[in-house]
Amino acid sequence: MKIRLLTVALLLLFTSCQTSRQAADYSNNTLSSTLWLQTAAEYEAMTLQAYNTARMFLTVALEDSTWSASLEQEDPYFDKPPAIILDLDETAIDNSFYEARVILDKSGFDSVTWNNWVREAEAEAIKGAVELTNRADELGIAVFYITNRDAEVQPYTEQNLLELGFPVAEGSVMSNGGQPGWTSAKTERRKVVAENYRVLMLFGDDLNDFVPARGISIEERKKLAEVYADWWGAKWFVLPNPNYGSWERALYTGNEESEAEMQQTRLNRLKDKRN
Ligand SMILES: [Mg+2]
Repeated sequence: MKIRLLTVALLLLFTSCQTSRQAADYSNNTLSSTLWLQTAAEYEAMTLQAYNTARMFLTVALEDSTWSASLEQEDPYFDKPPAIILDLDETAIDNSFYEARVILDKSGFDSVTWNNWVREAEAEAIKGAVELTNRADELGIAVFYITNRDAEVQPYTEQNLLELGFPVAEGSVMSNGGQPGWTSAKTERRKVVAENYRVLMLFGDDLNDFVPARGISIEERKKLAEVYADWWGAKWFVLPNPNYGSWERALYTGNEESEAEMQQTRLNRLKDKRN
């Protein structure tokens, strides 16, 4: 009888350890980074740093008719009216509240809950973005938002932006699927803007907001960032996003099927200088 009780007790202990371990594994992926986004003064300082620097460069870029930040820009562009292009999520607006829900609900990202969040129009402005876009607007620079939010929820996105004080002109929000050929790759949409405007600056939280970088390795991504070393902080402005993005997809080999396998890949990617 004693042995049986001991076995049951051990089994219960093991099960409870397993449950808490799984919860901990899950939370570990984004809990710290979401808290950092929501609480760190350092994060706000970084976004202000990016947007303040951009604001200073606006007049330089405006006066130099050879200045263009778009790889899709084709000659002749010197006389085209000026524009800037911003990504939205985690560049101009903060969706860490959705991430917090995912963590607290022990769920994961999915397009239904994401679009519901977009419909609430409750994202908050990232520090510095409203000021920068309004300064551009005052200077007569068109402001475009190229976002991978779905076209079907674009009215809610526009409502959210307007309520936060962003300048939103007709056609300035270019959503994923908004026109034929407008895929999540963003190149086509940048091309449309570059056909009619001289693009002074790009703002994003993902390499793909600046240059096509789909499906390439971690090393290739870093090389690509280095190719444009002189553009960062002058023509291209990147905002921190430790929660998600193509950097994360580049971690995996494509052979992982379970969360445990993904966790193992993440651990394998750590460098500790010991071997
Ligand atoms: Mg983004």
